[in-house]
Amino acid sequence: MQTQLADWIRATPEGVEADAILRKCVHCGFCLATCPTYTLLGDELDSPRGRIYLMKQMLEGSPVTERTQLHLDRCLTCRACETTCPSGVEYGRLVDIGRHLVDQKVPRPASDRLRRWLMRRVLPSRSLFGALVAMGRAVKGLLPASLARKIPERRDPGAWAQARHPRRMLSLAGCVQPSLSPSINAATSRVLDRLGIALVEAPAAGCCGAVTFHLNAQDEALSFVKANIDAWWPYVEQGAEAIVITASGCGTMVKEYGHLLRGDPAYAAKAERISNLSRDISEVIGAERVALAKLAKDAPRERIAFHSPCSLQHGLKLTGIVEPLLRDLGFELTPVPDAHLCCGSAGTYSILQQDLSQRLLANKVKALESGAPALIATANIGCLTHIGSAANVPILHWIELLDRGLTPKA
Ligand code: SF4
Ligand code: SF4
Repeated sequence: MQTQLADWIRATPEGVEADAILRKCVHCGFCLATCPTYTLLGDELDSPRGRIYLMKQMLEGSPVTERTQLHLDRCLTCRACETTCPSGVEYGRLVDIGRHLVDQKVPRPASDRLRRWLMRRVLPSRSLFGALVAMGRAVKGLLPASLARKIPERRDPGAWAQARHPRRMLSLAGCVQPSLSPSINAATSRVLDRLGIALVEAPAAGCCGAVTFHLNAQDEALSFVKANIDAWWPYVEQGAEAIVITASGCGTMVKEYGHLLRGDPAYAAKAERISNLSRDISEVIGAERVALAKLAKDAPRERIAFHSPCSLQHGLKLTGIVEPLLRDLGFELTPVPDAHLCCGSAGTYSILQQDLSQRLLANKVKALESGAPALIATANIGCLTHIGSAANVPILHWIELLDRGLTPKA
């Protein structure tokens, strides 16, 4: 695609990056068929190619309106289009730049600004969000069913394994996961312990910054990124092998730390190192597959539907790792149609775009339950909570199933 960026943006880092991405697009339209919003709405402007045109027009100096903002807001940032694109268009990076610029040009109504500000204050704060979840659980019986279903039951996480091995990895606790499902990282510590790896948390690390970043407060998000780098760095210097992330949405963000801080002299090198050390839990366990299979309990297993989050399959490009691990342990995986499509969770999308989110959720639950599984397994806390609000069978993180499926510790 030929471009002629306007003077106000051409020489900036965002302009240079956006221009390079735009020039890769050859208008072929292959991405349309795999875009969830185009599939639902059938409007070219709600497709990747349409949004790319809108962003190109803005960057070339055309006026920007609420309409541009609406079509960009409707994008889930699921990045299914990146997986499909034969030209390697990095749509996710382009839409981050595009949304940031649109928000500078088109002020949002006060109510929308307030809603977004509240999400930026509450969601990344473990203490505030934890207090709200605890309150929600206490009054769950009094809430409307639609709201009550969004608050998962508290499950006993079980004990964390003691850090008793010389091999050490760091764990990202994150922001909402410790309140919604503390069992995920506890199970991870136990599985890794069986494989001879100690999992430790850096107490000062917190939210990965993704929620804030995708609400277009990108400078604010960098304060979370730097705080995590500072919290992890001493452990890295002491030889931590990896930063293990059990929420693939957070994993996608941490992989971007190096890129986001590439122009920061104080943090660029450290951020690059942190991104290189970050691993989705499936990568860590996948590398230990032979050892893991020897620990499997000889017991009947449930039929499972695996939901691969967009952040895992399209963001991190990790496909076909979890399923064989579950099969090795004897679980039977049911077929899931349209597995490339988003469930509608997508960070804060389920709050900001409720109608589209609920339509995607209904389609996803139908697809996941079509093979009559006893359980659904997934790899991201957002999808787990969102799908769990509508599914008719329990949903867990797949690492919790692995934890259950191993022989007791000797
Ligand atoms: S990121 Fe997802 S919703 Fe957005 S344009 Fe690409 S495929 Fe469509
Ligand atoms: S598939 Fe890639 S090259 Fe083709 S229109 Fe979509 S983004 Fe552009």
